[in-house]
Amino acid sequence: RPVVGVLALQGAVREHVAMLERAGARAVPVRRATELSEVDGLVLPGGESTTMSRLLESFELLEPLRARIADGMPAFGSCAGMILLARQALDGRPDQQQLGGLDVVVRRNAFGRQVDSFEVDLDFAGVAGGPVHAVFIRAPWVEKAGAGVEVLATVSAGLVPEDPAGGEPAARIVAVRQGAVLATAFHPEITGDERVHRLFVELVREA
Ligand code: GLN
Repeated sequence: RPVVGVLALQGAVREHVAMLERAGARAVPVRRATELSEVDGLVLPGGESTTMSRLLESFELLEPLRARIADGMPAFGSCAGMILLARQALDGRPDQQQLGGLDVVVRRNAFGRQVDSFEVDLDFAGVAGGPVHAVFIRAPWVEKAGAGVEVLATVSAGLVPEDPAGGEPAARIVAVRQGAVLATAFHPEITGDERVHRLFVELVREA
């Protein structure tokens, strides 16, 4: 079984551990650089990306993690994890650090203040067996994706609850893949459906 770490500084750690185990991996929490060096892939959970960014620095994980991602280690970020993996985060804090595995620009808390959370069923490229139930919690969206980024799922304009800019609602990118780096704006770890985690464990096996 591939060994998949879950960054365990903050956020939805247990849920990812449980889903990874169901998806056929051995899941281990990662808090130190020595633990990071022993995993075949890493999940960055949801939580608060600004807090996680600060904790990555104080646990001296920021540079080791950047180095492993640059070196091709498979990574899967959900929600705050997606924000950390992005090359740039809009509406972040000025001192927020990016890990940079994904050539995307994300917008934090993009779906607006009035609707902090919503759920939709999404077609998800690479996941067979019907739509994936997606739970969004103060979620980002991908505002710009580079040419090397594959879009795996979008929320259609009619389902975007609110456009904070007040413009016409547009379809929004909420799941992407670039090489061995996968990210979802939503939380596949809390719905009991491990298909997205299976897709990631498959990427880890291939790497
Ligand atoms: N809004 C959070 C952030 O900016 C992400 C929320 C989540 O991970 N559920 O980091």
